[in-house]
Amino acid sequence: MRRRWLFWGCMIVVLGFVSLAGIKWLVSWHTSQNWHTPLAGRIIVIDAGHGGPDGGAVGGSTEEKDITLKIAQDVRHYLQEMGAVVVMTRDKDMDLADDNYEGRHKRQDLVRRADLINKTHPDAFVSVHLNAIPMPSLHGAQTFYHPKFSENRKLALFIQDSLKRNLGNTNRYAKPISHVYLLKKSEAPSALVEVGFLSNAQERALLIQRNYQKQAAASISQGVMRYFTNEKVPSD
Ligand SMILES: [Zn+2]
Repeated sequence: MRRRWLFWGCMIVVLGFVSLAGIKWLVSWHTSQNWHTPLAGRIIVIDAGHGGPDGGAVGGSTEEKDITLKIAQDVRHYLQEMGAVVVMTRDKDMDLADDNYEGRHKRQDLVRRADLINKTHPDAFVSVHLNAIPMPSLHGAQTFYHPKFSENRKLALFIQDSLKRNLGNTNRYAKPISHVYLLKKSEAPSALVEVGFLSNAQERALLIQRNYQKQAAASISQGVMRYFTNEKVPSD
């Protein structure tokens, strides 16, 4: 009888160690999974600015819509690698308005993009654009946000900080802006990135390079990732 108690006593201790080791292994496996997929379970909407009949800004023979699409597709790739589910407002050269919707075509396009964003109920929304202005000396990536939620500023600060660090060619800061329709309408934490100026010849030469587009996309994705991983919010 005593021997039997001893046997079961030993078994319980052994099983205890085995299950403890199992739990430890499970925890470390789960942590390593999170390390590789820090955005698992996150839904992100990415908007490639303009498209179709709306070419956006122009510099030389380059149209904004073509570069925003490539960068947005690269951002999708990087975010998916980190485990996010990514929804694009467009994935080819098109906009969301009806073909023959004269007059208020642009308005219909934007309204439909805003509907898509809010119906998706994303954890974050990022819109990708390029700039062109009559002052050819201006250059540098810049992130904008609507001041209605403090989360918008936080997301923009992370993205701008990552662009600054990785591209090494912008001293611009995350800036509040109130009149951008999609930022105003989005119910999710949102930011709009002006990746660079097509009106600056030097920056335009970079913006048409696939490597630079990927670098910019990786920076935007890194900013989004840092926003979700409880890192200390960078300063302006
Ligand atoms: Zn634009």
